[in-house]
Amino acid sequence: MAVDMQTSGTLYVVATPIGNLGDISQRAIDTLRHADLVAAEDTRHSGQLLARLGIPAHFVALHEHNEQGMAQRLVADLLAGKSIALISDAGTPAISDPGTLLVAAAHAAGVTVVPLPGANAAIAALSAAGMIAPHWLFYGFLPNKPVARSKALAALADLPYALVFYEAPHRIVECVAALAASFGNTRRITLARELTKLFESIHSLPLGEAVAWLEADANRQKGEFVLIVEGAPIAVVDEDGKRLHDTLTILLEDLPLKQAAQLAAKLTGLKKNVAYELALRMRDAAQT
Ligand code: SAM
Repeated sequence: MAVDMQTSGTLYVVATPIGNLGDISQRAIDTLRHADLVAAEDTRHSGQLLARLGIPAHFVALHEHNEQGMAQRLVADLLAGKSIALISDAGTPAISDPGTLLVAAAHAAGVTVVPLPGANAAIAALSAAGMIAPHWLFYGFLPNKPVARSKALAALADLPYALVFYEAPHRIVECVAALAASFGNTRRITLARELTKLFESIHSLPLGEAVAWLEADANRQKGEFVLIVEGAPIAVVDEDGKRLHDTLTILLEDLPLKQAAQLAAKLTGLKKNVAYELALRMRDAAQT
């Protein structure tokens, strides 16, 4: 395979696996092999990965505590003609990981930045969650402290988009409880755990049931998590939504759900799937 590595002075942003070594791309391997420097979040951790791939590398550490200064040093190397591959401990660099400052500094200095896409926990979770809504927002890690977290969640509560969070195992129960407290019990959550690893699991349920589900089996709280919470019902956020909500309220009194949704879509001029989704939520809310 031809490696597009001819130009020196390029910053390559290279995704590495989030658990399964088989997920590294051939292009990532070739790029890591040929880079003058590999900037890694944890050089020992990434040293093991590259050793398993049989790639000798010249590492430099770039992590949250030294990124500001190191970015300037690495940009000088780039300008001097070196090629640098940026990696993080797992997944795509600069996504809830170090790398953003280096990438921004490289752009500012006129250095070419080339992404090598690959594993990313949020995208893997979204692809397998079966979330019907087409729009979603990536949030990443919520603040650890309860007050700051509640404030962040309050700002997100009415958004009509699925929300994607990262969370560590020791905070998972606390985090899911906070999500239910801020978003209510009805919206569904998908807990995607240990993606691409031996104990991978993907489970969806209403937020109000999620803490009990996690607590029913200690194994369900282990490992790394992506949490996806469905968006706020559109009824709360705009005029169209309110009209649809009011129409459905009347129709659902006398018609089966599917028929009510079809008719409501016709009457409001909104899409059938939007009406159907809201009708489902209204029915769920009425049952809880
Ligand atoms: N840059 C990474 C990416 O592209 O996904 C994310 C790094 S962030 C520091 C680590 C968080 O990502 C974990 O706490 C977890 O929320 C999520 N994560 C990483 N690997 C995962 C996996 N295999 N399964 C589920 N979540 C994962």
